[in-house]
Amino acid sequence: MNQIIDPFNRHITYLRVSVTDHCNYRCHYCRDEDHQTHTTRSEVLAFEEIVRIVGLFAELGVTKVRLTGGEPLLRKDILDLTKMLGDIPGLTDIPLSTNAHLLSSFAEKLKSHGINRVNISIDSLIPERFKEITRDGDLARVIKGIDAAIAAEMNPIKLNMVVMKGVNDEEIESMIDFAIDRGLDIRFIETMPIGLAGIEALDRHYSEKEILERVYKKYGNKLIAKDSKQTDGPAKSMLIEGTNTSIATISAVSNHFCASCNRVRLTAKGDLILCLGQKDSVSLRDAVRSKMNDEEIKNLIIKAITKKPEKHFFSSDIDNISNRQMVEIGG
Ligand code: SAM
Repeated sequence: MNQIIDPFNRHITYLRVSVTDHCNYRCHYCRDEDHQTHTTRSEVLAFEEIVRIVGLFAELGVTKVRLTGGEPLLRKDILDLTKMLGDIPGLTDIPLSTNAHLLSSFAEKLKSHGINRVNISIDSLIPERFKEITRDGDLARVIKGIDAAIAAEMNPIKLNMVVMKGVNDEEIESMIDFAIDRGLDIRFIETMPIGLAGIEALDRHYSEKEILERVYKKYGNKLIAKDSKQTDGPAKSMLIEGTNTSIATISAVSNHFCASCNRVRLTAKGDLILCLGQKDSVSLRDAVRSKMNDEEIKNLIIKAITKKPEKHFFSSDIDNISNRQMVEIGG
């Protein structure tokens, strides 16, 4: 068995791995105001455990593993993990999602470990607003991190902006200009109702339709649709003619992209989550800390994936997902 296909004929090839649920930023749509992380070292998967689990997924046909968090660069000795992951046969793509606060001192080493591409969260180019959204983030450091990733020749570098009505929506155009100036891609994300913070953020929801109206107004005849094979998962992507920048939207609320969902998530504590909108999970930490052998754990994974739901129903599942914090799942 070297592939996992769920009951809806989706081929699971993508695992998102949260390496820590600690984050140095506290974006107000991502975690509740009073949310604290108390996770202890022994509760989170050790690197050897992550590598064993990822290796089993790779044997089951997973080729892409994204490192996320919390903030992945906060995990102590993260470069040891990236090196170990780079040695797993079958993995062809190991991107990283980061807030870039620490990226300037990591970019080059990450690149040398095969982390060729990076997604960077940046919701505003106005320092005070950035500080407010992230509850004390430092925009200058993030831009320094972005420039370090460019200098390390990571490619593509994708900027992720969560667009919120009345908070930062007026910056859509300036964010595109920033991306074009640096030759980066930009993705506009709708707020998702995960956790109380995400549910509250729905009040400021800015839809994909509204985002695209603004994009078309500015770049209409210069936008060239990328074919879906060139695009990354749920993002619908367009190249701006004459630039190296593509624009994409991720609209988990306006549109279901569930039919093409090829991903599952592993939390820092080792829970396998099959869908952001589903409460159920399976503890792979218990599995790797038990006497189960590799074949037994692979069978557990295959069985878990039979429970991957056909679609998320954020509105009706709100009770299921209100206790989850995005910072714990990794986006
Ligand atoms: N710290 C890393 C970062 O900043 O990218 C990785 C973790 S963060 C949880 C991953 C992504 O989830 C970020 O792009 C963030 O903006 C997004 N995110 C968090 N909460 C969200 C929400 N309620 N709706 C939409 N996107 C969200």
